[in-house]
Amino acid sequence: MYRHGIPGFAAAAPAGNAAVLVVKDERGQPHRGKVFAAVHAHLDDVPYYASGLCAKLMSEGYTGYIVRTSNDEKYGGRTTAQNILSNEEDHFRMAAALGFKDVFDFYYQNHDMNGISYIDLRGRLILIFRMLKVNTVLTFNPWGPGEDDPDHWVTGRAVEEASWMAGMPNDFHEHLEAGIQPHTVTERYYFCAQPGQPFNRVVDIGTHIEKKIDAIVECKSQGNGNRGSIVRAQLARQGKRLAMLGNDDRAADRAYARQFLLDNDREYGKQHKLQYAERFYYVDHRKPSKSKADEYIETNAVRI
Ligand SMILES: [Zn+2]
Repeated sequence: MYRHGIPGFAAAAPAGNAAVLVVKDERGQPHRGKVFAAVHAHLDDVPYYASGLCAKLMSEGYTGYIVRTSNDEKYGGRTTAQNILSNEEDHFRMAAALGFKDVFDFYYQNHDMNGISYIDLRGRLILIFRMLKVNTVLTFNPWGPGEDDPDHWVTGRAVEEASWMAGMPNDFHEHLEAGIQPHTVTERYYFCAQPGQPFNRVVDIGTHIEKKIDAIVECKSQGNGNRGSIVRAQLARQGKRLAMLGNDDRAADRAYARQFLLDNDREYGKQHKLQYAERFYYVDHRKPSKSKADEYIETNAVRI
């Protein structure tokens, strides 16, 4: 990721969002037994775009897995190899903070994912979706406007295709021989990552904001998660302090994130009288258990 929204953008809702559903916390564990996979490209994508929803889904019974497709080698301010390592370590810590059960890192070359074997990426996702029996995916909008980071749109498109293809018995016969059965992903939440991208769900993340901050402050190699402690140290060298940054690095990072890194969430929430919200384009491919044809046959078939 290299940008996270433009301040003020949220004040004008994009066109095409006439039917927006505001989603609040659900009581109990309505999603117990269900599995979601959050598939992003870079360390800080899920933390900014969807960590509130991830925390909400897990609190409602979902088991969550996270997949990072790129190796994040361009971010971290050190050598390429050091950047890969520090992003990897941050990513594990971020995933643990949110409560993901497992992490999959694909390590495709950062910024160059439009040059990779797309079929290879899609096939790897199909294996994971089948193996984990993923019901729901969270990822980039594959066709959202304004997405000029190839890692984002390549990842979104591969997830979109893998979601239905994972359910096709004629793709990857060897999976079946290994005991891994076809399994369709039926629900998708696409991030609203850039100005102008469509959304039809506004998710109230007010009760999950501390988890979102937990995730953001682990984004130290990129994503400004350690900005508070950096500012605190800079001020200390000048013989100054900022009261809001508290008395230690962790408090400084959390305070900075809360004050300066959640503007989009506050803005998205304000329009619906919520304190914090995230936006998604939700796609539902769940089918009724019986088709019209099944019902007709059941009702009308007579003994000969
Ligand atoms: Zn990104």
